[in-house]
Parts: sequence; C-alpha cells; structure tokens
Amino acid sequence: MFTIGAHISASGGYAAMARTALSIGANTFQFFTRNPRGGAAKAIDDDDVAEFHRICGENGIGVILAHAPYTLNLCSDKPGIREFALNTFADDLSRMEKTPGNLYNFHPGSHVGQGTEAGIELITAALNAALKPEQTTTVLLETMAGKGSEIGSRFEELRSIIDGVELKDHMGVCLDTCHVYDGGHDIVGDLDGVLERFDRVLGIDRLKAIHINDSKNPFASHKDRHEKIGLGSIGTEAFERIINHPALRDKPFYLETPNELDGYAGEIELLKGLRKGD
Ligand code: FE
Ligand code: FE
Ligand code: ZN
Repeated sequence: MFTIGAHISASGGYAAMARTALSIGANTFQFFTRNPRGGAAKAIDDDDVAEFHRICGENGIGVILAHAPYTLNLCSDKPGIREFALNTFADDLSRMEKTPGNLYNFHPGSHVGQGTEAGIELITAALNAALKPEQTTTVLLETMAGKGSEIGSRFEELRSIIDGVELKDHMGVCLDTCHVYDGGHDIVGDLDGVLERFDRVLGIDRLKAIHINDSKNPFASHKDRHEKIGLGSIGTEAFERIINHPALRDKPFYLETPNELDGYAGEIELLKGLRKGD
C-alpha cells in the first residue's frame, strides 16, 4: 500500500488533522507537536483523541509522524538551551503516548563549534535521559543537509548516535530526500548505491519514514531549501524511482514542500499516478 501524506497544521487538534489529511487524498500526515519555534504545547483533549482514533480506524489512516520544533537543539553549547530542549523533548514524548505507536522525528542538532564528536555525545546523553523503556513511540533522527554545524548529514553520524543510546529499539531514522541530496548523497544518479550504504551503515529496518521534498539547490550544496515536487534539482523521474524502490515503497512518505493544502493535494495525486504495482 502507498502510504502518503503531507505536513499539515496542528492548530485544530488531532481529529481535524485526520480530516484534513483525508481531504487532500492522504492516508497519513505529519504535524508539529507545538509551535515550530518552541514554546508551550496545547493540552491534549481526550475527546479529540478518541474522535481521531475513530476517524483513523474508519479510513485506514496508519502511522502518523510528529515533528519536534526545529529550533530544538539537544547539543547546543549553552547548558540552558540544552536543558530547555531536553524538557521539550521529554514533554513531547509523554504527550505522544496519548496516541500510542506513532513516530516522533527531530533534527539531531547543531554542535555550534564544539565539534561533531562532542555534539553526538550531548545528543546521546539527552536521548538516554528522555527515552523510557515502556514508551510505544519510535524516535526518529532526521537526515540533515549539513548546513552550518548540523549533525546528521553523514549516515555514520546517525549510526554513532544510535550506538550511544541504551534503548535502541525505540530509535529509527527519517530520510529527507531534499536533505540527503543537499548533503551529498546522490539519490538522483545512484539511488541503489545510496540505499546500499544506508543499509550497511544504519540498516534499512531503521528507516521508518521518508520526507519527500524536491530541492531548490544543486547536489551537495548543504543548503536545505525545499522545492515543490518536480520543480527542483531532484526531479520527477527520480521521485518515481524513489516511491517505487523495493527498499522504500512500503515506508510512509510525507511531503514538506512549499505548498498550501491544494498544492499538496496535487502532489499526492501526481505521486499516486507515478506509483506502480498496488
Ligand atoms: Fe525536519
Ligand atoms: Fe524534513
Ligand atoms: Zn528541510
């Protein structure tokens, strides 16, 4: 089955998000757990969650993907920022248990001059403080473009983070097509090679979600500017190979392209048209 969705606004609550997803032809969605720039999260309404689960059950919405605020930096050089990030992260994880069995994605962080190794140590320490044995949520490290001092553009860096985490069973990876292409993984010219390396370093089973975005910038530009599907440097043909690739086709795909809902609906229709064999 083709599992495809988009990043949508969380402002109306869970049931509203599920309805919005269905209205654009999606069978999953991504949302921010709180204001993307940080700040307090809205209280979760149990009635809203019950209605959400009813809609999901009736319409076949499967796993959903929550995204941490993109300002969250578990490996900042400032202890106060790290502490704020850890508190936000832990609070998000406890909120996620209201909708059990889903995915929580975050940007590993920027080491801001401390070096990759020191950054990775801070990230693993934070994960070891936040993860709980009984949680049902899988935490995903997002592959990054390597902008500035961002950690996570090399698969080996993500491997090192997972190696340092005690509760590895709760860890996975989210592959962002714009980020990996910007980060120097040639998913246009050598998709098989990139996925073989991913499998060798991380294990393809760790891959739990794919952010499907075109890129405004050329290969290995380390920029991270998303483009609409087919209008950027990755291009429609590469996306056709990506969504049909045997190693990827059963994973959930989430659009984070610069679009409003009607634009997402069009891209979902386009991708469904490129999909083969189901
Ligand atoms: Fe992201
Ligand atoms: Fe992304
Ligand atoms: Zn991005």
